[in-house]
Amino acid sequence: MKKITILGSTGSIGISTISIIKKHPNLFKIVALVANKNFSMMLKQCEFFSPDWVAMKNERSANILRIKLKEKKIKTQVLSGIKEICALASLEDNDVVVSAIVGMAGLMPTLSAIYAGKTILLANKESLITCGHIFMNAVSFHDAKIIPIDSEHNAIFQVLPKRLQKNLGKVNLKENGIKSIILTGSGGPLYNLKKENLPFVKPEQTFMHPNWSMGKKISVDSATMINKGLEYAEARWLFNASDSEINILIHPQSIIHSMVEYIDGSVLAQLSIPDMKVAISYAMSFPNRIASGSDFLNFKKLKYLNFFEPDFIQFPCLKLAIDAFSNGQSAMTVLNAANEISVSAFLHSKIQFNKIYEINSDILISSSFLEPTSVEEILEIDKKTRIKTEKKILTLIN
Ligand code: NDP
Repeated sequence: MKKITILGSTGSIGISTISIIKKHPNLFKIVALVANKNFSMMLKQCEFFSPDWVAMKNERSANILRIKLKEKKIKTQVLSGIKEICALASLEDNDVVVSAIVGMAGLMPTLSAIYAGKTILLANKESLITCGHIFMNAVSFHDAKIIPIDSEHNAIFQVLPKRLQKNLGKVNLKENGIKSIILTGSGGPLYNLKKENLPFVKPEQTFMHPNWSMGKKISVDSATMINKGLEYAEARWLFNASDSEINILIHPQSIIHSMVEYIDGSVLAQLSIPDMKVAISYAMSFPNRIASGSDFLNFKKLKYLNFFEPDFIQFPCLKLAIDAFSNGQSAMTVLNAANEISVSAFLHSKIQFNKIYEINSDILISSSFLEPTSVEEILEIDKKTRIKTEKKILTLIN
């Protein structure tokens, strides 16, 4: 039985993970659950699983949860704050950590799991792309294991040779017969929207993704397509790929979740209906497979599978992220921080949708940082950029 800690258990990825665990009570045991504020969802999860530990980032939510658990005579210990979250991510008593906190908030808990040599099922791409080689070096040094949950990276992982699966980020693709990685993307919820209508996009429109149901931040990232750019960076690190070894292709149906092109002309792809449970269950059961609870593909009902070049003019955030990656680690860290702040401002209806790109781009252009050599330096760049972006947004509002 695998012992699991879920970081971000009340979110979209967390809930899908929990539904898989419910289907396989003999294979998985939840040791600890982590979230921020959502104590009512956490209470339900505790009622069902009675984990040993829970941590809420928000202290008030932790207090409310403690009272409610006591009323229900559930013995789960409730902790709060980032230090305690990191402690749960590195508990001796767990084998697998699902990293599904949203944004940079996931960095320290994910690193904590890495330092403890855990197997990390990685959804929180922000922790990898903001720390890059520091993250990957820590994985090697502490003998931790990463299995990607992001559907594209999970698809690529599924069709890689075993040697690469076991040595993520370390092995040369060419030497293993791989010509390129084809990273697919649906184009997001605004793919067919005319450019002149972008300023009028409401947050709710970005939540109506045609294929995927996701948390709010990644839904907006999908709408600007910066998410595909962040995934490009994620793929470069995870698969030790050069720029010319990654091609991005728009595939609106989200049936093929990514592909690997081999030097003999073969292309291996992973297909399924768009449901994160497929990727998560594979990561949870690797190298075996278990039922995910997802529906099956019906090929007779598939009318067509289309593929298009990405449009960098319609989706400038995609290009911004690809360029930031090639400009070095601090550029990527700056972009991630600026984007988290500008997306949050959009979600709170403080700025228009098209301002996300303008702000991200301005902050990137006006920032110059030395290449970070430690996590502390990364955190400093992140902090400074957040302050700068908030100031910039204030000037736009006033
Ligand atoms: P959600 O917004 O749905 O969930 C986020 C989770 O993180 C919640 O449990 C939330 O708790 C918790 N959380 C937020 N801030 C903190 C904090 N400071 N400390 C502790 N916990 C915190 O996000 P998603 O599930 O959509 O995404 C999670 C990650 O997975 C992201 O990095 C995303 O890019 C990635 N991902 C998501 C996919 C998807 O389909 N959703 C697909 C591929 C990748 P609370 O509920 O209490 O606020």
